[in-house]
Amino acid sequence: MITKQGTAARAAWALPLLRVAPGQVTQLTVQSESIIYFELHWLDKNYVCPGDGCPSCCESLARMKGYFIALVHVGDRSTSCLVEAPPSSIQRLLDQIAMEQGVLKPGLQLTVHRRAKNRSVSFDLGDEGGRVIDQLTPDHRTLSATAVLFGLPLPRREETTDEYVLRAEPVARNLLLMATKLGR
Ligand SMILES: [Zn+2]
Repeated sequence: MITKQGTAARAAWALPLLRVAPGQVTQLTVQSESIIYFELHWLDKNYVCPGDGCPSCCESLARMKGYFIALVHVGDRSTSCLVEAPPSSIQRLLDQIAMEQGVLKPGLQLTVHRRAKNRSVSFDLGDEGGRVIDQLTPDHRTLSATAVLFGLPLPRREETTDEYVLRAEPVARNLLLMATKLGR
């Protein structure tokens, strides 16, 4: 059960999802130090696949998406957003970064664009040294923002990702069960 205090804590971690329209070119500055991947099922919205005991895997294949936080620059304004992209787009970005002997890290500047509605986003690597708004545990921040997006429990600072996944899986399973029941 989410308490009132819990709701406020969740709201503090919430971030808008970046949606890149076809033909649009957007400048980003990475704020995460790694990409967080989820296997998702689409019902009325995206739900995280809990793996074992998943009520949806027998009906549809889960699709993987990767998430990271970036400052999105539009005109003079910069807004923190959660960037969602398919693994293939992210892999091309990580390959570009590796060719420059770098790693994904806060401050890395990117251009994101999308050619057409049925095409996925692609990233072009820019320079390092962009604005970083919060250097404290960026992975915790990324995981918290995705937890809010998918209705999963917030990660605790002291727990490892594996411990978090163990705790979040039953919640993900219940959310999917409720959604499949409601959909029938
Ligand atoms: Zn599944």
